[in-house]
Amino acid sequence: MPELPEVETTRRGLAPHLEGRIVTAATLRRPDLRWPIPAEIREVLPGQRIAAVRRRAKYLLLDTAAGSALLHLGMSGSLRVLPADTPLRAHDHVDLALDSAGATPGRVLRFNDPRRFGCLLWQPAGEIHELLAGLGPEPLSEGGDGAAFNGDYLFALSRGRSAPVKTFLMDQRVVVGVGNIYVAEALFAAGVSPLRAAGKVSRERYAQLAAAIRTILGQAITRGGTTLRDFISPDGAPGYFEQELSAYGRGGEPCPRCGRPLKQATIGQRATVWCGHCQR
Ligand SMILES: [Zn+2]
Repeated sequence: MPELPEVETTRRGLAPHLEGRIVTAATLRRPDLRWPIPAEIREVLPGQRIAAVRRRAKYLLLDTAAGSALLHLGMSGSLRVLPADTPLRAHDHVDLALDSAGATPGRVLRFNDPRRFGCLLWQPAGEIHELLAGLGPEPLSEGGDGAAFNGDYLFALSRGRSAPVKTFLMDQRVVVGVGNIYVAEALFAAGVSPLRAAGKVSRERYAQLAAAIRTILGQAITRGGTTLRDFISPDGAPGYFEQELSAYGRGGEPCPRCGRPLKQATIGQRATVWCGHCQR
């Protein structure tokens, strides 16, 4: 499943090809993905110029003067910018046709999603879509879109909470985009047990956790930069990033720090791996 680093890399890969382009047509090969595709995509978006490609949590927004196309890649979605005559593959559900850019003939932004957990929705100008309302801060932000994400913020928000710290950090109202892989790695890096009650983690340890989350997400985005060419390759399937993981998916293997076997359990219905010695 695409996590925040994949979505951010998708944004960075697409932005140079989309920003400044006018959407000339929307071709919908089915009426819905996870949810029905609203009429505005066909009736309002064509004729609009894409001013910016933004990311909020794991959503991508194509901003125009009339509003924003709101995309989510779901479990299996991918976006590519292709020559308009590129043959369709299975599960190519949506094309947004773009005007020509200088000598480059008009291309299409093509949305492929075999499992159809992704979505294409519309956010009118000046409004916040209900899916984006109530989201916590961006983990890589310094503030500016609400609360700044740092140790003090996590410490203050967590007081009195008995849920495991892992569940707390994966709550999108607390901070967006910290998925199961990244929370496992951040908890390992900061030496915090995923089972510890969120309200019992100290201010200092939340500072370490916030820093670890930033570092790990930032490293994944940096590594993802090497896959950018896939977004304009007709044959390329944007892959998910190779990860150098210390904990996630390594239950029973030796802890990279102390050599004792990593523990594995299910927390909040998600597989969780940690070291009972290094993480307290
Ligand atoms: Zn250990």
